[in-house]
Amino acid sequence: MIGVTENLALIKDLLAFSAVEAGREPDAVTLLAVSKKQPVSSILTAAAAGQRDFGENFVQEGIEKISQIRDRNLIWHFIGHLQTNKTRLVAENFDWVHTIDKLKTARRLSEQRPESLEPLNVCLQVNVDDEASKSGLLPEALPELAAAVAELPGLSLRGLMCLPAARLEFEAQRVPFARLRKMAESLSAIGCRTDTLSMGMSDDYRAAIFEGATIVRIGTAIFGPRT
Ligand SMILES: *Cc1c(COP(=O)(O)O)cnc(C)c1O
Repeated sequence: MIGVTENLALIKDLLAFSAVEAGREPDAVTLLAVSKKQPVSSILTAAAAGQRDFGENFVQEGIEKISQIRDRNLIWHFIGHLQTNKTRLVAENFDWVHTIDKLKTARRLSEQRPESLEPLNVCLQVNVDDEASKSGLLPEALPELAAAVAELPGLSLRGLMCLPAARLEFEAQRVPFARLRKMAESLSAIGCRTDTLSMGMSDDYRAAIFEGATIVRIGTAIFGPRT
């Protein structure tokens, strides 16, 4: 069986290759290793191979791993659905949250972020498919939420995130990512400048990179199936 170290090296090459293909710098895209439901030993293997950014979806599981590993070089991203009663643990332990879709959650995170830490980096999760069942805010609500979040002292608004429905074809995959990119451009035009587009996973990272992704979130292709 191929291991985590080999998988990581391969994926990093593929990301760099896609970036160059898209006319971007080879290091334009940050790999976020999604380690949910993976053991601490796999995270340590990836960290030993130089991987710094890790993504977790569940608050309790993430906190346990962060406190066991205690490596200050690692950057922890919360990428799951965040319930308002769990914001404090996230504000105190993570470096990023990608899934903000309500002002209430953002306000709590800002109030609960310890002053000894840098502001928490946040992305607003947008529902680019207009499907009522999926999480994320609707595009029309974005400018107002972005403006409000940008004012919160405990947060640093970094950009937008999406998790579109799976599509098979490359050109079809590009559509929701292009939509997210244009939304970020519109925010910039109203003075809300962002530097992050968190989009693309194992099966659609190339389309996301062609549309300007700066962070791609990849789990299974690095760590294998989840336990
Ligand atoms: C699980 C997850 C991923 C990674 O998915 P894989 O299929 O394991 O690559 C990426 N983003 C989010 C938000 C996730 O929940």
